[in-house]
Amino acid sequence: MIPRTFPRSARLVCPVLAAMATLALPAKAEPLAKNLFGAKNLPAYTQPQSYGFYSKGCFTGGVAIAADGPHWQAMRLSRNRRWGHPDMIKLIERLSREAAADGWPGLLVGDISQPRGGPMLTGHASHQMGLDADVWLTPMPGKRLTQAQREKVSAVSVLKKGSLYVDDTIWTPQHAALLKRAASYPEVERILVHPGIKKKLCDTATGDRRWLQKIRPFWGHHYHFHIRIGCPPGSSGCRSQRPTTPGEGCGKSLAWWFTEEPWRPAKGPEKPKARDIMTMKSLPAACQAVLRAPAPANEQMVTIGGSGGRTVAATGQPTAASAFVPTPRASIPLPEPRPRN
Ligand SMILES: [Zn+2]
Repeated sequence: MIPRTFPRSARLVCPVLAAMATLALPAKAEPLAKNLFGAKNLPAYTQPQSYGFYSKGCFTGGVAIAADGPHWQAMRLSRNRRWGHPDMIKLIERLSREAAADGWPGLLVGDISQPRGGPMLTGHASHQMGLDADVWLTPMPGKRLTQAQREKVSAVSVLKKGSLYVDDTIWTPQHAALLKRAASYPEVERILVHPGIKKKLCDTATGDRRWLQKIRPFWGHHYHFHIRIGCPPGSSGCRSQRPTTPGEGCGKSLAWWFTEEPWRPAKGPEKPKARDIMTMKSLPAACQAVLRAPAPANEQMVTIGGSGGRTVAATGQPTAASAFVPTPRASIPLPEPRPRN
């Protein structure tokens, strides 16, 4: 006989099952891409290729810039973000040399990318394809900084405290020459700076001013500037950013930055950052293979020194950088976000 209603026992079981369902762990969560890429200490040892976009991508064939070169010192070595597409790393080496000839004492190199790119555990939304690099606006000191100093020394803001304008006691014509030199390279598509810096350049640049088109105002970026190169030849999986607006960018679009609107706190609840929810599904399929690709035997094999962009051969000797004990991730200062108050 088929009961018309569920037997009492079944009705008792159902709430138990319901409770179990709520207690049960969800289906195995997808690992976060930032954890997978953040765990890689060495690059994918294959031909250089960038995949995806600046804020959603990865790369193979990465090389590191040496911690020290004739005209640069890399900062925050514990982060292991001295990696980039070889075109990016060679460009930094070239900029360091040519800027030195222009009268800039040398580069303090900030974050480039993780060894295989991808989203980072902390900081930047972009820097994922090995095609973005931060360079401090603080001139390199005459002495070599110790590793501890490279963790702790702060960059100096070039803005007048509490204002949107450059402090003329800090800003020098050499700052302008450094940015002009960086913008002069055809592979450089954008240079991000604080609007106050863009304004200073607009107000003072003489002669051919076409390079100003590449200098883009953005939040933050008054301690360092950000160099972005285009998709390198041969990286067919790399998506280009739309070209910059023609013109110097010194008019209306710059004036907007000196209104209240861009600095108004964002409304509504804070959205989670893309890097904190991004799984491998958000990245190009090629990035799965990038994670699985073999690594070089050691970092020295893929480190570019100060010899005009030559890849330094393996020495088998650990560098001071690789022997360095990293500081806890939690103590890494984050780049300045869009202000919320
Ligand atoms: Zn940057």
